[in-house]
Amino acid sequence: MIDSFAGNTTKPNPFEVAQRQFDIAADRLGLDNGLRQVLRTTKRELTVHFPVTMDDGSIQVFTGYRVQHDVGRGPAKGGIRYHPDVTLDEVRALAMWMTWKCAVVRLPYGGAKGGVVCDPKRMSLSEQETLTRRFATELTPLIGPDSDIPAPDVNTNPQTMAWIMDTYSMHQGYSVPSVVTGKPIDVGGSEGRAEATGRGVVFTIEQAARELGLDLANATVAVQGYGNAGSTTAKLLHRDYGCHIVAVSDSRGAIHNPEGIDPDAAVLYKGQNGSVSGFPSSEPISNEDLLALPVDILVPAALENQITEENAGSVRARIIAEAANGPTTPEADQMLYGNGQMVIPDILANAGGVTVSYFEWVQDKQAFFWTETEINEKLRRIMLSSFDEVLQTAKREKVDMRTAAYLLAVDRVAAATRLRGIYP
Ligand code: GLU
Repeated sequence: MIDSFAGNTTKPNPFEVAQRQFDIAADRLGLDNGLRQVLRTTKRELTVHFPVTMDDGSIQVFTGYRVQHDVGRGPAKGGIRYHPDVTLDEVRALAMWMTWKCAVVRLPYGGAKGGVVCDPKRMSLSEQETLTRRFATELTPLIGPDSDIPAPDVNTNPQTMAWIMDTYSMHQGYSVPSVVTGKPIDVGGSEGRAEATGRGVVFTIEQAARELGLDLANATVAVQGYGNAGSTTAKLLHRDYGCHIVAVSDSRGAIHNPEGIDPDAAVLYKGQNGSVSGFPSSEPISNEDLLALPVDILVPAALENQITEENAGSVRARIIAEAANGPTTPEADQMLYGNGQMVIPDILANAGGVTVSYFEWVQDKQAFFWTETEINEKLRRIMLSSFDEVLQTAKREKVDMRTAAYLLAVDRVAAATRLRGIYP
């Protein structure tokens, strides 16, 4: 089945992609049919249609989803995205990827995701707040600090999480900070959470570069998507490793400068102008051109289905570090692996975000907070050991890094399911 998107192009259905990735691992693990059915299906899905009073007094009805894929290893965990192209199948895929992601880095969580079909870039702050509070209310049958814990994702941020936390707390009659993560520090957020996804991506790139003998101090990088994950990855690669960021993009355009782009200045410019497009001393390029640049490292940090069988052959980077969820299709994976290019898969590369979400949740529950140094050290330890486990598995099983990560993750979730047994 094919989902059609704007622009006359057809893109694979993300949930079918997620299920195919799962099947590859399930086949290799020899999972029995019953367990296979359990794990390739989502556990619980909520669709809501809810009204929001807009600033001009009109009423608009929005559609939102929350999907829990599996809770065998712990409460459901995963972000909420706001985007005009959100579909139920996309949210299902993202929920399943969260299950595997949490298992790869050994967090005691299952996987979930939420989304609202909307364009926050065309809504005022007060419309965004009203939408968020009503959506949070619609989610009350599912979310809770021990059942399902949302976090930021595409087009949502710490402010969005503060509204969800407050709405849930108002209904309880007391503050429940641990119902969401990715909150501002002042309301129970964690040091280091805002940068955690990018920092985790960078730790995995450091390990991949070491494995491939790539000198990061002279490495060139292209970043597709300049939101939280993409911009933080660019900043840290430049500041801490001396990489040259030669191209970045966002939903409105891509820019290129072979001499290097200052990632902090690009963040400022995007803040003032709404896009990196037009950034001084850079050339505009197309999104396709960005993916095909002769760089050492490519960081897809936008949406799903960016590297497909159609363009994988033109990707030249040695390392593709998936800061986004689901940017590469299984066909493209095979082509890149065959070419000796290393894909650091989303469920490993971007797991730093949910890892520090876990730290935030633990700190909220114990009402005792750690320093940023402690957070970053714990994050580094988890990312390095997880990367190492995936790499060793890839070498031993002679498979690509995604399949290796899935072998570890699916095996862990399957083990939890077997141990708990099928109720009743
Ligand atoms: N949305 C992020 C992800 O895709 C973070 C999820 C979380 O922190 O729960 O991993």
